[in-house]
Order: sequence, then structure tokens, then C-alpha cells
Amino acid sequence: MRTILSFLSTLILAANCLAIDDLPGLGDGSNLSTPKQEYQLGRALLGILRNELGQIRDPLLKDFVETSVYKLAETSQLQDRNLEFIIIDSNQINAFAAPGGIVGVNGGIFLHAQTEAEYASIMAHELAHLSQRHYVRGLEAQQKLQIPLMAAILAGAVAAAVGEYNIGMAAIATGQAAAFQNVQSFSRQREQEADRIGITNLAKSGYDPHAMPSMFERMLRQYRYGEKAPEFFLTHPITESRIADTKGRALQIIPEQNNRKKDSLAYQIMRIRTQIHYDEAANALKKFTDLTTQNPNSDLYRYGYVLALLADNQFDKAFKLSSELQKKNPNNIYFNLLKIEVLLKSNTSDKLNKIAPLLQSLLKQYPNNYVVKQYQVDYLIAKQNFNAANKLLNEILLDRSDDPEVWQQSAEVRGKIGDLLELHRAQAEYLILYAEYNQALQQLELAKNYSAGNLQVLAKIDNRIQQTLKLREIAKQLK
Ligand SMILES: [Zn+2]
Repeated sequence: MRTILSFLSTLILAANCLAIDDLPGLGDGSNLSTPKQEYQLGRALLGILRNELGQIRDPLLKDFVETSVYKLAETSQLQDRNLEFIIIDSNQINAFAAPGGIVGVNGGIFLHAQTEAEYASIMAHELAHLSQRHYVRGLEAQQKLQIPLMAAILAGAVAAAVGEYNIGMAAIATGQAAAFQNVQSFSRQREQEADRIGITNLAKSGYDPHAMPSMFERMLRQYRYGEKAPEFFLTHPITESRIADTKGRALQIIPEQNNRKKDSLAYQIMRIRTQIHYDEAANALKKFTDLTTQNPNSDLYRYGYVLALLADNQFDKAFKLSSELQKKNPNNIYFNLLKIEVLLKSNTSDKLNKIAPLLQSLLKQYPNNYVVKQYQVDYLIAKQNFNAANKLLNEILLDRSDDPEVWQQSAEVRGKIGDLLELHRAQAEYLILYAEYNQALQQLELAKNYSAGNLQVLAKIDNRIQQTLKLREIAKQLK
């Protein structure tokens, strides 16, 4: 918590002290910010965020968030759809979309939003704030606010993520209150606009638009009597009129078909994974034992039961149950991946040998699925087949060059096969994504030692060094 608080005060300090003039090459003073500046700042700040906040490292959850938000973005009014994601390990309900295309989701969203449509309604609302540039509009009069504003947005995100909203607010109150307030509490008009645009987008994306008012309503009832409201609803207050307004909107949206999506197995699986993540192993085990006893035909609760068994290190029982589930649902990606997850965690040669045929059939059905590829990498590493793992990781990096977890695993594998040049380059990329620019530069210098005089490689590394120096310059303004 100490580091979080010091980070907050750093950002608040930046918000108080910095003016756009202090940053060479950023803004001409007449424009508040251009997409390119926002992009650069957004990436630099995302690195700092990654450094300060714990993240949930679950390829399934990551893939679900990315796929679902990109799908919503497609039908949104968002111009620049180059998004970067961070899944914050916090059980508070919160989400944000910040300039520069940063989308942050707390694990807590999955605990509170009961259906995929409810989850999507929060994300659609956030995307609407972003597409309408609510973070920026209204501040045009204060032309020197870009960096402080970005700092304030990120400070707000961190404060909300760690549930220290009040501390953040108190500290901010002494300084750049206007910028922070603008970020933290959108005006009622802007909330309404984000709801309206969000709900239209929700329907366009094929979701049931009634999910938005029903989520608001449930949350309002739940927190009416004194209980501390979740962070998201402090920054986006729910009122009866907001519920009425979104209800009216939902009714106006004439259903083209009556098959609008309310929920999915995929979303419920994400909920269960998050619940297990936040629960004590013994609690989770008891809960899902009860649920499977009461609902003997629910494959979903059985899925949770298997995960709970895994968390409790009961590998044999988990294996038996996951095999039954997979057999019952031979073409379902989630039950196949669950069985592979159990086999990987069991990590005996006998169990690992059972993975190959499962992967083979999944790869045939889902040749471009990131999660399947990621499980294949984990399998290859468990089998100590590092050359094949390296090859596959390089393929994954073509699509996920901004994913620090993939770079981290790449560095490990490249070390195992003794490719020191590529090991240091991978470590540099990982460090850049965590805003550790000095260490990244060291890694790039080390990489040069292993380039064997290859001029093309040296030029590439030098180019990366120049880019890293620029990023360090931007980050320096914030630290
Ligand atoms: Zn809002």
C-alpha cells in the first residue's frame, strides 16, 4: 500500500506541477492533445500502472476481455481502436478507458456483473466516455492540462483499483482539483450521454440493452442501506432518474430479432475463474461441492469444482472430473482447456503425455486462438521442448508484441536454448512494457555484445535504443 500511496502522490505532484510547455514536442498549446500524443503518453503511463498494480495473469480472462471489448469497440463511435488492456487484480468493481486507448478492468467486475450483457454494459459506458472525449472536453479553456490530466486519470484509476478513492481525493483536493474532478466525477450530462451512447452500442453489438438498467437497479438496491458503494458507482453515481432514463432508452431500441444476447457460457466461466481466484481454497471447495450437489447436472458448477480441487492440490480427483466433463463436451473449448490445465498442473510425465492429442484436436478447430497457443507453449515448456516453445512464442509475438507476459516467457525460453542475443532483446521488451527504461537500455546494450557484428541486427538494436530513450523522456515528465 505504501508504494501505491507514494505512486499516487507522485502522480498528483505531476498533476500539480507539470504544464504542457515543459514537454518538448508535445502539443503546440492550441490543441489540448493529439491522438499521437495521447497514444505515447498512454503507453508510458500504462507501463507505470503495470509496475504499480498487481495483475491477473490468466490467458483465458485476458483473451475474453480483449475479444469482448474489441467487439464492442467495432460498433462504437471510437475512432482510434488501437487498444491496450490491463486486468487489475482487485476485487473492487471498477473499469476505466483512458485516453491513448488504455482499457482497464478490475477482477471485481466479474464478481459483480452477473451476465455478459451486464459486463458489456459497463464496458460500453466506458468506451462512450472515451469516444466522446469526456476526459478532454470542457478543459479546452485550460490549455496546459494534458500531462496533468493524464496523470490525474491514472491516479484516479489506481486509487479506485486499490479502493483508496478517498485518500486519492483528499490529496488531490489540495491541488489540481479541477482536472481530477473532471476525470473522477463526470457531470450528470456526461453520465447520461455515456449511458445513451453506451446502450445504443450495447444493442448494436447484439446484447440485450435492458442489461444496463437492470445492473444499475440491482446495484442501487444492494447499496442503498449504508453499505459502502463500489468504486465504479462513486465515480459514476446511480440515481433513480438514471435508471429510468436507461430503461426508457432500452425500450426505444426496437429489437430486430428477439435473440439479443444476455449471457454466455464463456462469461460464466470467467466469473467462476475470478471467484476461485479471490476465494480461499477451502471456501471455494466447500462452495462448489455444495453447488454441484444441489445442481448435479450443471457442467458449469462442475467446472468450478474442478478448479477448486486444483486450488486445493487434489490433482487426481480434478483429473477424473475434468476428463468426464471433456468427454461429455468433446468439442467445447473451455472443457478441453480445463482438462489440459489440470494435466499441466499435475505435471507428471504420465499426465503430460495425455495433453498432445487434446491440443491437436483443439488446434484443428481453433487454429488462431491465442489461449490454445498459450497452453501449447506451456505444454512444450513442461516437456522441456524449448526450441519448439521458442518458435511458437515468436509466432504469438507477431500478434502480441505489447504483451509483457509473452515477452517474459520468451526471455526464459531463449535463455534455455542459449540464444543470448534474443534473450536480452526479449528482456528489454518486457522491461519497456513495465516502464523500466534504464534496465531495458542495459539489456539492449548487452544484446549488442552478442550480435556477432551483424550490422542489420546492430542497426535494429540502436533503433530500439533511440525509441526507448524517447519513452524514458516522456515517463520522466510524469515521475
Ligand atoms: Zn461514467
